[in-house]
Amino acid sequence: MAHELPKLPWADTALEPHISAETLSFHYGKHHNAYVTKLNAAIPGTEFESMSLEDTIMKSEGGLFNNAAQVWNHTFYWNCLAPKAGGAATGAIADKINAKWGSFDKFKDDFSNAAATNFGSGWTWLVENKGEVEIFNTSNADIPMKHGMKALMTIDVWEHAYYVDYRNARPKYIEGFWNLVNWDFVNSNL
Ligand code: MN
Repeated sequence: MAHELPKLPWADTALEPHISAETLSFHYGKHHNAYVTKLNAAIPGTEFESMSLEDTIMKSEGGLFNNAAQVWNHTFYWNCLAPKAGGAATGAIADKINAKWGSFDKFKDDFSNAAATNFGSGWTWLVENKGEVEIFNTSNADIPMKHGMKALMTIDVWEHAYYVDYRNARPKYIEGFWNLVNWDFVNSNL
């Protein structure tokens, strides 16, 4: 059973001007696609044949883990984004954010700061950890489920996520992200 590159949940121009179709042509068309291809190339003859992506992530390490986790991370990230979305959190997650941070703006500042200062390549997550919502930074392909946490929302802070649109200006990319957050999807992960 080969893993597949899922279709994007919107048109490749739908996230403009915050994330361009050109960025997606590389980030989805080349990078995400390459993780799927490399994962599928590494699996034949291993215990991971016919294993779900999540089980593969939990049971693997090294290069195979990196590709499996990056396949999951990117699919999750695309689902966190939507056109005509963003703004303050809505629904049950808004209540949890307000209870933890006091206001959406304080959460937004803390999350943005965590994403801006996540050193090198990685991901910044909103997670649920033992019933509490938390901001969690990971490096490279690392993923909350490997730490017993449930991912609620993420931003990819690898440079390949923003260099086409923003060059080295990660904070500008993070600013744009807040116009795209799909709070319905974030709520569906609770
Ligand atoms: Mn990426």
